[in-house]
Amino acid sequence: MSLLFVGHAQVVQSGDENNFYTHDVESWIDYSETSRALGSSTDDFLHSVKLILKLPRIIVLSEYDRLPKKEVKFTRQNIFQRDKFTCQYCGVVFDTKKLNLDHVVPRDKGGKSSWDNLVTSCIVCNTRKSNKMPAEARMFPLRTPAAPRWRPFSTSVQNQECHESWRHFLDLSASQVEMSA
Ligand SMILES: [Zn+2]
Repeated sequence: MSLLFVGHAQVVQSGDENNFYTHDVESWIDYSETSRALGSSTDDFLHSVKLILKLPRIIVLSEYDRLPKKEVKFTRQNIFQRDKFTCQYCGVVFDTKKLNLDHVVPRDKGGKSSWDNLVTSCIVCNTRKSNKMPAEARMFPLRTPAAPRWRPFSTSVQNQECHESWRHFLDLSASQVEMSA
């Protein structure tokens, strides 16, 4: 709200069929009044001493000096997430508890613990592959492992309940996840 009032942000209003309108504070006040007169749900309004404003759900910043970090933290959980909790050898989706990480090139053969050498594996496949090279074990990962390019932010939002009007933006980031993973 303060960003809106000092003019550093505008409210994005989603209309029908993926049309979006931006409002500065003046026009948002007008829009709030109209919207209230038309009987929009009362929970959707913020009350101040002088104003009743519709709760902004999406804002666009006019300046943005801190981009979220693009690097995804290298963690066990994020490797599972990159591989969609799917064993990269048998292709079955498992619960985290039943998953392990497998070094594609085993550690004793110089394989590193890195995004491009670790894959999600179920315990059975992990045991079966043991410390063999993929060709030896005849077990190749379903997808060539690589560092994911999604941002932890978008996945953490997606896992939560989200407001209807966010869907357009979050679905968009979901499709980017598909493309870059
Ligand atoms: Zn498996």
